[in-house]
Amino acid sequence: MSLRARTDCVDATKEVAAEVAALVGPGDVLLLAGDLGAGKTAFTQGFGGALGVEEQITSPTFTLARHYEDGRLTLHHIDVYRLERLSEMQDIGIAELLDSDGVIVVEWGDLIAPAMPADHLEIRFTYGDADDDRDLELRCVGSRWSARERSLREALSSWMVA
Ligand code: ADP
Ligand code: MG
Repeated sequence: MSLRARTDCVDATKEVAAEVAALVGPGDVLLLAGDLGAGKTAFTQGFGGALGVEEQITSPTFTLARHYEDGRLTLHHIDVYRLERLSEMQDIGIAELLDSDGVIVVEWGDLIAPAMPADHLEIRFTYGDADDDRDLELRCVGSRWSARERSLREALSSWMVA
């Protein structure tokens, strides 16, 4: 089962992200998929802002990971676009991060899904017809997220498409 939402501007994507953020708890994992410019970082900015992160959230493309500790939950923002070997994930301490009480958001996370927890929320961003249109497909994987699918659907009702 997956949910489909549609946004028509970057702020709408951030609002969707804020709704998702209201539903996350310690140890949750979000895998963001979609082409460059599709809105993965924008989503993470809205998500982090809603968690209470005050610091500007920037793309961790070159650093692989950035950590924000001033919100309701610690946000670990990872971007695996430039990952060359899976062992680089060990270098950033992925095992410890997964074991922590923070929430992990991984851009291009679909590429390393086999190395990620079985329970996760996958969000796939695709371009829509107009320049600022984006389609978001949210897929609850594992019991942890399936249990929240109904809440997610309700929270995102303003943006849902059939
Ligand atoms: P990614 O991290 O997927 O490469 P970014 O979030 O960095 O993408 O960039 C998305 C770009 O698209 C930003 O410049 C943003 O302003 C723009 N944009 C336009 N419409 C939307 C939308 N509906 N949702 C998200 N971003 C949008
Ligand atoms: Mg990005």
